[in-house]
Amino acid sequence: MGGKGDWGSFQNDWCLIIPFNVLEQIRAHVTQRLPFESGGLLFGHRRAFELVVETFLPVESALPSRTHYVGRAADAVRAILKAERTGQPVIGTVHSHPEGSGDPSHFDLERAYGYKDICHLIAFRSQGELSFSVFRYEVGLENKTNLRYEQIEWKIV
Ligand SMILES: [Zn+2]
Repeated sequence: MGGKGDWGSFQNDWCLIIPFNVLEQIRAHVTQRLPFESGGLLFGHRRAFELVVETFLPVESALPSRTHYVGRAADAVRAILKAERTGQPVIGTVHSHPEGSGDPSHFDLERAYGYKDICHLIAFRSQGELSFSVFRYEVGLENKTNLRYEQIEWKIV
């Protein structure tokens, strides 16, 4: 099962830097899509272990659900092509937990498909308030019993 753990020298080095206006765009998007989970992709650049967000592009849910979010593939491809034109790679994913915890679910970790170089922002709503937490996942494609994650620092600029 998933869990926070001491599994590498990168621990605590990673940090997500996010502009206030981008965080507000995420807040607006996930609030609009309530009561369903929603999400999108973060684009920007990397400075050593700092992931610096420049853009958030929503990716509509393939099948609106209160408990799962899977982005529509066509939307994701469109978002990636748009960002590539401006030279911004994908540096993170975003999705919401409308009534869930701020931790990734087992489903989230399973669906990370082995991507280790990006971070994952979860917008979670607890007692009506929207909060954010950011993680990196250590996930094996073959070994689905070894799904690990750790919370990383983030700051608003
Ligand atoms: Zn989730």
